[in-house]
Order: sequence, then C-alpha cells, then structure tokens
Amino acid sequence: MFINAYAAPAAKKKLETFQYEPTALGPWEIEVKISHCGICHSDIHLIDDDWRVSVYPLVPGHEIIGEVAEIGSQVNHLQTGQRVGIGWQRSACLTCELCLRGHENLCPHEEATCVGHHGGFAESIGIDSRFAFAIPEKIKSDEAAPLLCGGITVYSPFRLYNVQPAMKVGVIGIGGLGHLALQFARAFGCELTAFSTSADKEADAIAFGAHHFIHTKNHSALKDAANSLDFILNTTFTELDWAGFVNALRPNGKICTVGATANSIDIPANLLMGAQRSVCGSVIGSRWMISEMLEFAARHDIKAQIETAQMVEVNQAVDRVRKGKARYRVVLTN
Ligand code: NAP
Ligand code: ZN
Repeated sequence: MFINAYAAPAAKKKLETFQYEPTALGPWEIEVKISHCGICHSDIHLIDDDWRVSVYPLVPGHEIIGEVAEIGSQVNHLQTGQRVGIGWQRSACLTCELCLRGHENLCPHEEATCVGHHGGFAESIGIDSRFAFAIPEKIKSDEAAPLLCGGITVYSPFRLYNVQPAMKVGVIGIGGLGHLALQFARAFGCELTAFSTSADKEADAIAFGAHHFIHTKNHSALKDAANSLDFILNTTFTELDWAGFVNALRPNGKICTVGATANSIDIPANLLMGAQRSVCGSVIGSRWMISEMLEFAARHDIKAQIETAQMVEVNQAVDRVRKGKARYRVVLTN
C-alpha cells in the first residue's frame, strides 16, 4: 500500500505528486486519514530550505485534521474513527528532563512532522499517537486545522510569559499566526494593538479583537506608541525595527518572537536595561498546552479565518501563502 502525497522535489520547486510506502505501525503509533491540512508559513520556509534543514522529496503540512484509521498495540487513549489533530511535532523521547517537566516541545530528541518525515499534504500519515490531539466537537475541521500549529504557537507565549487581563498587548503581523493571536489576547481580556505593514487589514484586525491599529509603514506611528505596551508578540519573519518596538514597551515589558526570522535582532542595550525590558522567544507549545488551547478556543469561539482549496490545487495555494495573499490561512481539503 502506498500513500499519495504532494512533495517538493528540491528547494523552491513546485510540488509534484509523490507516493511513498508507509513504515509498519509501531506500538504507540496511529495512522490518520487526513481530511484537512493548513498551510503555515513554516511550510514555505521548508519548501524553500530557508532553515537549511529540509530533506527532499519534502511533503510539507503540519496543521493536520483527520480520522484515526488504524492504531498500534499500545494505543488506548484514541480509537479508530476518532477525529484528531496533528501539529509541527510528531514525537519526543518523553523521558528526558524537559519532557518530564512537560516541555516536550523543547526535547532535544523531538522530531518534526515534515522534517525528515512526510507531512500532511497527503491522504494519510503515520504518527506517534501521543502527539495526536482530540478536537473539541464544537470546532469545525477546516477551522480547527490552523490551530494545531498557528494557534498553539501564539497561545503558548501568552501563557508562558504570564500575560494578564489588564495588560496592554501588541501583535506584529496580521497573517496566519497574527489573526489568531489577536483573538486569543482579546479573549484573555487584554487591551490590544495590531501592528501591520498592510493598511488594508485595519478593519479585519479590529474584527479579530484589536482595539488599536498601527500601520508600521508610517514610522512616526511607532514612535507615538513609545512606552505603551506590556507584551509584544512578533509573528513576522522579515526585517523589523526592533529598537522601535522595544521602545514601545513599558517598564518590565517583554517582546517575544515566534516569527522565524533569519535576521539578527539589533537592540541598543540601554533600551533593555533602563526600563528592565526583555526579549524572548517561543516555539510551538507542549502537549498539555495544545489540549488547553483547543479547549479554550472552543469555549471562546476562536477559529481561523480560512480559504479552502482542494489538495490538487496545492501549488496555487502555496503561492497565495508565499505572496502574503491568504486571508488569513489556506486550508487544503481531501
Ligand atoms: P503568514 O501567514 O505569511 O503571515 C506573516 C505576516 O507577516 C504577514 O501576514 C504580514 O502581516 C507580515 N509581514 C510583514 N512583512 C512581510 C513580508 N515582507 N512578507 C511577508 N509577510 C510580511 O505567516 P505565518 O504562518 O503567520 O508564520 C509567521 C512566521 O512564524 C513564519 O516565519 C513561521 O515560520 C513562523 N512560525 C513559528 C512557529 C514557532 O513555533 N515559533 C510556529 C509556526 C510558524 P502584515 O501584512 O500585517 O504586516
Ligand atoms: Zn507551522
């Protein structure tokens, strides 16, 4: 039996139909028949080999929703026919100190769904069942898919860095991650500022929960925001006026990047020291955080705003994401 998928044959190439033979299911593994898969900008980074970790042929896709088709001998928390979601991480050792502390996303032995393994632009996938998550009934599959990577990636830093309801929060970049970040922070009760290079996203940003919108191409606008925010989440991956954003933090404020920029972060030391500001990062989220995020999203009706495309239209869909045209996440359907 072969799995039909779409793979990039080499860096920056169009995806092509691709078949591969799945390995036999291990005792903890499940096979999931994929119904939906979101396209995250990390898939574009992988196709393009921006991070120099890509292995070709590369089947992207790590915002997966599907139905459990087969279970390994040890799996007792999932059943065949059950709807599950799979994100960026496909496994971890589950025995190291970080795993035992509940930080599996930081495990030195973690494996990514589509780095050295074939991902979700496919009809099915085999995966460690302990990295597949039951999806609350209330969330539709197409709107749930982007939560598995985009959703957890923006939810986790708000929780990790203790963002509180009375805080003033900024979100940089209103794309796949950013539009979900606005919805989560609004549900937390924060006063919210959206920072965007796209003036035409203002109405959408307000609809996602922002109280204020700052068009960052207007440089004086960022200066006017000096000393106004407690926490800023960066979801962009291009050049950024880091000093300007740090300057927009209040004393003890934090700026956190989840955007996977290849550029270095240039910040004058006095901007950090004087007001005790800090810079930090965050990567996806742990398993308990993913379950919590899904439950929170269901309770607060948080969902991705999506465009859907058939799996066969994958190249046009990837192109929309690459060009920043998606509003706000493209989800492939089987
Ligand atoms: P996306 O949907 O393409 O959104 C990125 C946003 O960045 C755009 O909507 C745009 O917002 C802004 N932007 C500013 N300048 C841009 C430019 N020159 N080209 C493109 N976009 C520009 O991407 P995403 O899926 O949200 O992913 C964002 C980043 O997070 C990627 O680097 C991805 O790899 C990373 N990521 C990290 C993790 C993690 O665990 N840390 C997980 C998932 C993804 P405006 O129009 O509002 O300016
Ligand atoms: Zn992703």
